[in-house]
Amino acid sequence: MAHAVDACVHCGFCLPACPTYTLLGDEMDSPRGRIVLMKEVLEGTLPLADAAPHLDRCLGCQGCVTACPSGVPYGELITAFRGWSEPQRQRSALDRGKRWAILRALPAPRLFSLAARVGQFAKPLAPALPAALRAPLDLLPERVPALHSSPKVTRARGQQRGRVAFLVGCAQQALAPNFNAATLRVLAQNGIEVVVPDGQGCCGAAALHTGARAEALSLVRANLSAFDPGEYDAILSNAAGCGAGLKEYPAVLHGEPDEPQARAFAAKVMDVSEYLFQLLQAGDLAPPLPASRPLQVAYHDACHLAHAQGVRAAPRALLRFIPGVSVLEVPEGDLCCGSAGTYNLEQPELASQLGARKASHILSVQPDLIASGNIGCHTQIQSHVRRARSRVPVMHTVEVLDLAYRGEL
Ligand code: SF4
Ligand code: SF4
Repeated sequence: MAHAVDACVHCGFCLPACPTYTLLGDEMDSPRGRIVLMKEVLEGTLPLADAAPHLDRCLGCQGCVTACPSGVPYGELITAFRGWSEPQRQRSALDRGKRWAILRALPAPRLFSLAARVGQFAKPLAPALPAALRAPLDLLPERVPALHSSPKVTRARGQQRGRVAFLVGCAQQALAPNFNAATLRVLAQNGIEVVVPDGQGCCGAAALHTGARAEALSLVRANLSAFDPGEYDAILSNAAGCGAGLKEYPAVLHGEPDEPQARAFAAKVMDVSEYLFQLLQAGDLAPPLPASRPLQVAYHDACHLAHAQGVRAAPRALLRFIPGVSVLEVPEGDLCCGSAGTYNLEQPELASQLGARKASHILSVQPDLIASGNIGCHTQIQSHVRRARSRVPVMHTVEVLDLAYRGEL
């Protein structure tokens, strides 16, 4: 951690990029302030309990990493700090129970789906509940769909040109099963065979970023056993948070005997939009059918795609590849929507302010459709767009492409 702390020259360029500083205007809720707080806790000059509220408010969005001219790896710093400090935290029983429930339900799609269905019955009661209980209910879609299980192998249509492994994710199987179904169809349409390896599970990002290191390590190692990178052209994810998490495996296992295995694995990990963009650049992406009318699509950059993985051009290029589609840029596009993994469950008030702000900026460009590449952003944006009384559809980038291939856009 020391190298990351020392790299900060306190210039403050990151402050306007930080959602919590933007909302609260407090130096201690900025990247620069948090780096100082972590340093003082590590040096023993500040009690952890004094720094914790400000550090807990950090979304881990990495907007500050993109903005920092000195290359401070803030994402690595806050993740390592949370892992180090969590065993020393004095949490209330309610807090411990909430964390336990989140970390158990998120990686278990069946349990998550069951909880979402039960939650739907309680949704009408949400306005009368305290914020901590209201937040998950507010985020539920109007109708919780049936759980989607992806086939073990999806054959390429026509001549096979590639073979990839696919991480199916957790929450999206319960909340947006069409993300995976559309991903499989689009890849197959382009001659790519898709394998869903047995034994895969949660990427571990939620556990890692909330300081639950032991749980994260066990999830990481389960995935390293399930995916043999030598068998595939790429290992794909269609959830920005999961893809960024998979690419972090070498850092998670730094200095461990299985670090080389993690490096070989991470070298093959790509977001589905990156993979399809490669096909597009090679002239190998099948041309989609034109949209039935000119469509203005507002594209939302998921933080863990844009800031954590540097993937910005690929999804926009895929959308523009559809005849009749134009892509709209959203004001304050670099600022997090407030979803950020489990943040909208742990910090519901700030998450809600950021969600409303994001929905208002998106709707200000008057889109016909909203596209993004992450289940967390999708859920958050859809919830806040509906609260703003708009019916504009919110989709994953591959769902838009899939509709175009089927002539239904
Ligand atoms: S921009 Fe980078 S160097 Fe400057 S204060 Fe922020 S983290 Fe530190
Ligand atoms: S990760 Fe996001 S919320 Fe945290 S300090 Fe950086 S910009 Fe602010």
